[in-house]
Amino acid sequence: MYLSNYFFYAIIPMLLSLWAQAKVRGTYSKYSQIRTKTGVTGAEAARKMLDVHGLSDVTIERVSGTLTDHYDPSKKILRLSEGVYSSNSVAAVGVACHEAGHAYQDADQYHWLSLRTNIIPLVNFGSMLGPILFMVGLVFSGFLGRFGQTLSYAGVIIFGLSAVFAVVTLPVEFNASSRAKAWLSNTGLLYQDEQEGVADVLQAAALTYVAAAIQAITNVMYYASFLNRNNRRR
Ligand SMILES: [Zn+2]
Repeated sequence: MYLSNYFFYAIIPMLLSLWAQAKVRGTYSKYSQIRTKTGVTGAEAARKMLDVHGLSDVTIERVSGTLTDHYDPSKKILRLSEGVYSSNSVAAVGVACHEAGHAYQDADQYHWLSLRTNIIPLVNFGSMLGPILFMVGLVFSGFLGRFGQTLSYAGVIIFGLSAVFAVVTLPVEFNASSRAKAWLSNTGLLYQDEQEGVADVLQAAALTYVAAAIQAITNVMYYASFLNRNNRRR
């Protein structure tokens, strides 16, 4: 029972996550080889997309690493990785416009993004305190009795905020990609087949967020099942 629980809650989601990461790397590297026919780079496309929405105050910076691209709402900076910033590949334009999509969400006060930003401190606190409560409750359960059990369950629930975060991330990511694709379909920067390439890249990226959410949820379920089993035994 214990092993099958572990297999169901931990191994399968981990394999799913590894598969999704391999898929996004493969898709990204495939479309990194395909140049845009207009020659537009990631940074140029993102700049255009931002300016059209009246976001000329958002600056674009280069950041080291691969797929480290992100938008920083607190500083209004869009950071693009080396392989995206100056590259004129289909993948680069897709990723850059997805990040510009996050800047759009910020400007429009898109509620899922606001919620996601607001719960970050709570999630960080929970992922620190949750495991501590869980362990203390478990280790001292003989000594603390029922209170120890309650403490452990409280730990699981607080730790569960990380799963809430991973789930709230989903609409934020899907919506940023939709905004990127919608904008690209209206600009003439990319041809039809290139737009399909962008859709492929963004769909693969979305898959990694789905896998991460499943992993976060099953992780919490695993801790809960561990407690249930432990309590049934005593
Ligand atoms: Zn994103």
